[in-house]
Amino acid sequence: MAFEGASPVNTQHVDVLIVGAGLSGIDAAYRLQTECPDKSYAIVEARAAIGGTWDLFRYPGIRSDSDMSTLGFPFEPWDSDVSIADGEAIRSYIQTTASKYGIDRNIRFGHRVTAADWCSEASRWTVTCETADTTTTWTCDFLYACSGYYDYTAGYTPEFPQVEDFAGQMVHPQHWPADLDLTGKRVVVIGSGATAITLIPSLVGQAEHVTMLQRSPSFVVNLPRVDAVAGKLRRVLPRRTAGSLTRWKNIFLSMYFYQYARRRPDDTRSKILHFAQKQLGDDIDANTHFNPSYKPWDQRLCIAPGGDLFRALRKGKASIVTDHIEQFTPSGIKTRSGEHIDADVVVTATGLVIQLFGGAALSVDGEAVSTAEKLIYKGMMLDGVPNFAFAFGYTNASWTLKCDLTAQYVCRLLNRMSRRGETACVPERDASVEPELMVDLDSGYIQRAKNVMPLQGTQAPWRVHQNYVLDLAATKLSRIDDGAMQFRTAASRSTAASTSTVAESSGPVRGRRQPSAAHSAERWTSIRTHARRRRLLR
Ligand SMILES: Cc1cc2nc3c(=O)[nH]c(=O)nc-3n(C[C@H](O)[C@H](O)[C@H](O)COP(=O)(O)OP(=O)(O)OC[C@H]3O[C@@H](n4cnc5c(N)ncnc54)[C@H](O)[C@@H]3O)c2cc1C
Repeated sequence: MAFEGASPVNTQHVDVLIVGAGLSGIDAAYRLQTECPDKSYAIVEARAAIGGTWDLFRYPGIRSDSDMSTLGFPFEPWDSDVSIADGEAIRSYIQTTASKYGIDRNIRFGHRVTAADWCSEASRWTVTCETADTTTTWTCDFLYACSGYYDYTAGYTPEFPQVEDFAGQMVHPQHWPADLDLTGKRVVVIGSGATAITLIPSLVGQAEHVTMLQRSPSFVVNLPRVDAVAGKLRRVLPRRTAGSLTRWKNIFLSMYFYQYARRRPDDTRSKILHFAQKQLGDDIDANTHFNPSYKPWDQRLCIAPGGDLFRALRKGKASIVTDHIEQFTPSGIKTRSGEHIDADVVVTATGLVIQLFGGAALSVDGEAVSTAEKLIYKGMMLDGVPNFAFAFGYTNASWTLKCDLTAQYVCRLLNRMSRRGETACVPERDASVEPELMVDLDSGYIQRAKNVMPLQGTQAPWRVHQNYVLDLAATKLSRIDDGAMQFRTAASRSTAASTSTVAESSGPVRGRRQPSAAHSAERWTSIRTHARRRRLLR
C-alpha cells in the first residue's frame, strides 16, 4: 500500500524510527510515547497491516505456543481464559492495542526499509524505504529495528530429491493459499517443529488422512489451553492486578520448568516420554517418534494444547513416520526405509529463513555492518553501531518478555542522553570478551543462520541471558554507564541538516521534535573516564 503523501524528494525526520508493526514494534511505540513523551517517532511497516507474524501466518490452526499473559503486552492484559490463543485472536489483540493507544496513527504502511546508514558527523541515521511506487528517505536520531527475525518473502524449503516428479500440490505454511481445499485429500506434512505439530490436528478434520513425516523427533508436551488460575484471579481482582499476577506466575513457572529441564535432562526426558506414551495409547511408540537425540531445550519444546496431536494420532486420523526422504515420486514420497507415503498435497513445515533487521543493509559512515562479526550488547545493540537497537525475544520463553525490557532500556538510554545533551551512544567491545554463538539452540534454522547471527560474550553486558529476571536487572536496575556503553556529544547538527533535506512530515508523527544539539567539540565518554575521574577526586 503506497503511503499517502510519500514523495521521492521528501526526507522526513523523527527522533526515533521504529521498523515493524508487529508485537515488538507496537510495544516499543507504547514505551516511547509513555516514557519519552518529548520524542517524536514513527513506525515504518513493509506490509499493509499491523500484527507481523500474526498477520502473515494464516495456516489452519495457527496459534501461540506460549501463554498469552507473557506473549501479550504487559501494559494491556490478555483478557481471555484461553491462554494458548489462535492467530486471529492475537492479531485482533495487537490491532486493538495499537488503536487504543493511538499508535496506529504513527504507522506508515507499505514502507520497506532497505538500507540505513549512520553518519557520525551528523549523529543521525539516513534510512531508505521502498514503497509500492517510489523510494522515500527518513532521517532519525535513533533507529529501532522491531522487524522480527525471519525473511517474510519465503520460508525455508530444503532441496528434496526429485521433487519435480511430484504431481500433487506443494504448500509452505508461511504462504498458505486461502482457497486450499483439502477435502478427501491425502496430506503429508514434512517437519517436526511447532508448525507441523500445530497443523496436523487442524487438518485431520478436513483431509482424508494426514501423515506427519519427520526426519528426527521433537519433544512434545501437553499444555492446557485454558489458564484456570488466570480466570479465577480476573474474577476477584482488578483487571490489571490480575493480569500482572498471571504474568508473573507464568514467568516463574516457565523459568522453573526450563531450569529443571536443563539441570535434570534425563528425568525431564523420561517424564515427557511417559506422558506422551500415556496419551498415544499402545499402538504408537513414543520412544520412536517423540524421543529426540538432543536434550530438552537444546531445541524449543513443542506444545500440543490439550494433547490435540496425540489425540489425532491415537484416533488414527493422522499417522507419524520417522524416516528420511529418499525421493519424491509422482504420487508421493518414498522414504529411506522403502515405505511409500501417498500424497495429494505435501506441506513443507520445514521452517523459516532467519533474517535480521528485515533484510535492511546497515552501514556506519558508509561501511557495511557485518552482523556475524558483531558482539551483541544486552541482547539488543551491536558493538560499534551507534544509536541502534533491535528487538530480539527469548527462545525459551515468550518473545515479548525480552522485547519489552529492550524497549524500556532504549527509553532509559534516550532519556539519559537527552538530560546530558548527548547525541550518540555506542556499545564498545572489550578485546578481553570471548565471543560465542548468540543463541545456544541447535535447531536447524539457528544453525543455518550462523553467518548472519551476531555473537554474544561470555560475561555481562555482552551475555544473552535468556532469563527474564536477569534481564530485568540488566535493563532496569543496572547502571547505564557500565564501561561498555560510550556516549558522544556530536559536532554541530547544522552539518547534519545540510546533508539531508528535512521536510515536514507528510503524516502525523508522535511527539515533539527535539531542538537540534549544536556542540563545538566531539567527545566520547564512558564509565572508564567517569571512574578515572572519581578515583582522582577521592
Ligand atoms: C508461526 C509462528 C508462531 C510463533 N509463536 C510464538 C509463540 O507462541 N510465542 C513466542 O514467544 N514466539 C512465537 N513466535 C515468534 C514470533 O515471531 C514472536 O512471538 C513475535 O510475533 C515476533 O514479533 P515481532 O514484532 O518482533 O516480529 P514480527 O511479528 O515478525 O513483526 C515484524 C514486523 O516488521 C515488519 N518488517 C520486517 N522487515 C521490514 C522492513 N525491512 N521494513 C519495514 N518493515 C519490516 C514485518 O512486515 C512485520 O510486520 C512465533 C513465530 C512464528 C513464525
